[in-house]
Amino acid sequence: MTPPCSRCASQRVINLETARKLGTAAGALAGSLKGAYTSLYAPSRLMAASSFFPMTRIAAAVVAAASGGIAGAAAGQQMVQYLFPPGEGTPWLCLGCGHAFRILD
Ligand SMILES: [Zn+2]
Repeated sequence: MTPPCSRCASQRVINLETARKLGTAAGALAGSLKGAYTSLYAPSRLMAASSFFPMTRIAAAVVAAASGGIAGAAAGQQMVQYLFPPGEGTPWLCLGCGHAFRILD
């Protein structure tokens, strides 16, 4: 069940616990893609790889996005962790006004 935002009463709120798990998963995925990319597109295999994988450009974009200085799961985790409000209860983030708040179950 989704509570309304405590500031603007919007129903467009997301559970930050879920977002943290998703962020961690996405970060880990990006990290592993980077590893896969590195092994697939190592210079010695570049010619063969580019003929077999037409998504090279997309892969490169993903890798570029993932390698913004902070690596993998830690980045996703930290980005969401930063949004967590202090205190007890379930953390929520309002997508309407950006207000983060907690609801005690
Ligand atoms: Zn709000």
